[in-house]
Amino acid sequence: MGDLPGIDEALALVLAYARALDAEDVPVAAAAGRVVAESARAATDLPPFASSAMDGYAVRSADTPGLLTVVDHSAAGRPAARRVGIGEAVVISTGAVVPDGADAVCPVEQTSGNVQVEHVARGDNIRPRGGDVRAGDVVVGAGERLGPPQVGALAAAGVASVHCARRPRVAVLATGTELRAPGEPLEPGEIYESNTVLLAAQLRSAGAEVSLLEAVRDDEEEIRAALARGLEFDVLVTSGGVSVGPHDLVRAALADLGAEEVFWRVAVKPGKPVAFAVRSGTLVFGLPGNPVSSLVGFELLVRPALRALQGERDPRPVYLPGRLAAPVRRNALRDELVRARARVADGAVELEPLEGQDSHMIVRAAAANALVLVARGEGELPRGAAVSYLSI
Ligand code: AMP
Ligand code: MG
Repeated sequence: MGDLPGIDEALALVLAYARALDAEDVPVAAAAGRVVAESARAATDLPPFASSAMDGYAVRSADTPGLLTVVDHSAAGRPAARRVGIGEAVVISTGAVVPDGADAVCPVEQTSGNVQVEHVARGDNIRPRGGDVRAGDVVVGAGERLGPPQVGALAAAGVASVHCARRPRVAVLATGTELRAPGEPLEPGEIYESNTVLLAAQLRSAGAEVSLLEAVRDDEEEIRAALARGLEFDVLVTSGGVSVGPHDLVRAALADLGAEEVFWRVAVKPGKPVAFAVRSGTLVFGLPGNPVSSLVGFELLVRPALRALQGERDPRPVYLPGRLAAPVRRNALRDELVRARARVADGAVELEPLEGQDSHMIVRAAAANALVLVARGEGELPRGAAVSYLSI
């Protein structure tokens, strides 16, 4: 086991092959979840003009406090025609242009009677032009993934479309003679096929365009034909058939098809038999069939690869700090991802390991919202030990 790559080493090997895909223009309204390939810059100053932060009166601060004459209105989208002269005020609404001559806005709450205004200082309640961003400045930098705030910011800054890496096209293939689709009756020895459902959901959440290939039995010909189709995609993710049994045929079939195996097996639990191969630009992940191994293998290796293919600046998984709520026995040879429930207690994250850590127990794992990294070693980590975890 000592010679197997660890998680970091395996990930480095994967990332060495995961080059950013070509980019395309994406309308901002459709760009949430995409990664920006070229920094997107503001098309305008934001705000584009000095505007009022509240409803009130646009005034000359030097005239305050004082009794002022209202000479015009400035509403959002309808600027005043008049400038503000000595002793004058313009009724103004939130977001409206501050008229020439005015250097402050007196909130409506601070007026008594019609236009008796209280003291305001220069600049009070005015949003300066370009105070949020200047035209030409970067709104979202290259390599950043667009979330809701980012697409909102781009639209506000007048950006209509962004240059983003295209979505990785990913094929998913389940292998296993025992597999049945949910909804069909189970014959003796059969189980429901769940990994492609899980993987497709993970893939979509990672920005991929997913194609589900028809599941195949543990049959050399069937497997080879399906793999050949899958090798046309940017990424091929297979499930099952990469272990050491007589029916584990995926690696040999990949080799027959000219895929070069970069590694097979990683010193991690669950998910040790994972295989990674490449063929002319296609990345192939052979994930083990046990559903929890598949789930964990995806988070450790496949999701980061998809992030790299989309040009994300740091594609590696983000581990967060927490403390164990109960002791955990360590595995002597393999780093382990322990399924746990994360909760905040006294301002810190506490991680409660779940019952049922076997790699076939997907229903137990479904109660987890965290994968706790328990580094290999002797003995156990005590309750309260500082650990890191991935949110799932
Ligand atoms: P394998 O990696 O093919 O040796 O499979 C390991 C375990 O995972 C076996 O118990 C399989 O029945 C199970 N398994 C394999 N593929 C799937 C799948 N697509 N969905 C659910 N379980 C699976
Ligand atoms: Mg199998």
